[in-house]
Amino acid sequence: MALSGLEIYKLLPKTNCKECGFPTCLAFAMKLAQKQVELDACPYVSQEAKEALSAASAPPIRLIKLGSGAREVQVGNETVMFRHEKTFFNKPALALRIKDTEAADAIAAKAAVVNAYSVERVGMNMTFGAFAIENASGDATSFANAVAAVRSKSDLPFVLMSDNADALKAALAKEGGHKPLLCAATAGNWEAMAAVAKAGGVSLVVRSSDGLDELADLTTKLGNAGVTDLVLDPGSRDLGTSLAQVTQLRRLALKKNFRPLGYPIITFPGEVAESEEGEIVAAAQYIAKYAGIVVVDHFDPAVAYPLLTLRLNIYTDPQKPISVDPGIYEFNHPTTNSPLLTTTNFSLTYFSVAGELDSSGLPAWLMVCDAEGMSVLTSWAAGKFDAETIAKSVKSTGIADKLSHKKITIPGLVAVLSGELEEELPGWEIQVGPREAVDIPAYLKVWK
Ligand code: SF4
Repeated sequence: MALSGLEIYKLLPKTNCKECGFPTCLAFAMKLAQKQVELDACPYVSQEAKEALSAASAPPIRLIKLGSGAREVQVGNETVMFRHEKTFFNKPALALRIKDTEAADAIAAKAAVVNAYSVERVGMNMTFGAFAIENASGDATSFANAVAAVRSKSDLPFVLMSDNADALKAALAKEGGHKPLLCAATAGNWEAMAAVAKAGGVSLVVRSSDGLDELADLTTKLGNAGVTDLVLDPGSRDLGTSLAQVTQLRRLALKKNFRPLGYPIITFPGEVAESEEGEIVAAAQYIAKYAGIVVVDHFDPAVAYPLLTLRLNIYTDPQKPISVDPGIYEFNHPTTNSPLLTTTNFSLTYFSVAGELDSSGLPAWLMVCDAEGMSVLTSWAAGKFDAETIAKSVKSTGIADKLSHKKITIPGLVAVLSGELEEELPGWEIQVGPREAVDIPAYLKVWK
């Protein structure tokens, strides 16, 4: 049962020391009650109080971990309905479904391609997160062989899909000990599935074909049986109903603190769509709301890239701009005679400029100033990218020692800074570059 802010307050030290980042213990208690802070933020909570507060501080949506090492995937632990309220934390894993009825060489080839797939965007590598291997044949040996074949090509986590607990048990033996997710316990088989999950120490999907009440009933039974790492499949294979179900699950977990449904969700876009195009639309919907794992039936880099980019956008913390490290970046082996350009450390700005510099084939230096991760115009308007900042970067980076000239090019959008910068950097020639990154190659060609 969740505690109210006042009930939590009674258990806090009440010293108002502010170390948690809030002006008073009461303010901290209110935020804790809303699941917007972690109890660990207060270093002075007694052990006794910690135990009493565990219900209030436990994440409303349980954190589930699949896989191991660098390929580990974490889902759940979300605290808000809408990203702008705070942020979404754990990106949904995209998983490719492979059926054990496919030819062995086709399985191996598919696994190798998806395992190696990686694209970079704004300095981040985006990959598929898992394989979902389905026992479509109904045969335990074929299933185990398919699992072994995929494992031989990939160390990604697996979702092992079968209605047969014995087949899952055999597949677990070939999985390699990377903490897979078993799929799925239903009203008809939950006891056998719970036994396999418990023996293997792995998490389990719970599927209902009869709505959320049945789902809550099943998770409660599984919890009582000692299986608490659960993932929900609310059952609907209609896009509209499914959206309503996943939204209701999120609301019940976050707003009502309804523990039986406080688990991440697995979705199957290929099962709600009649075409590959429909699957893409459904996958995009589930990434936005509110999947922890999205199992797709097709892999195509042309589709994977936009889906992963959508996921990146939705799961980027709106309060923290993505930034790159300030400093000096080299392009095409610059020499002492090469031009020096400057910009801010907002990653989209950096990668736009860096992309043009790189593709120009012309040597150049780029000085990235610390503008608190903001773009050129935004940081200029906020006073974070001004003549003083640029001059300070010139001095702190020591770029002057690498040049035989004293010329610096500022972005055309902040041409207004040139006068002030001349005062801040006596002896330097301030040049005004293009307003748009796309015009940088042409600018470099005529630079002198
Ligand atoms: Fe109160 Fe703890 Fe925050 Fe200090 S750190 S103000 S004791 S809640």
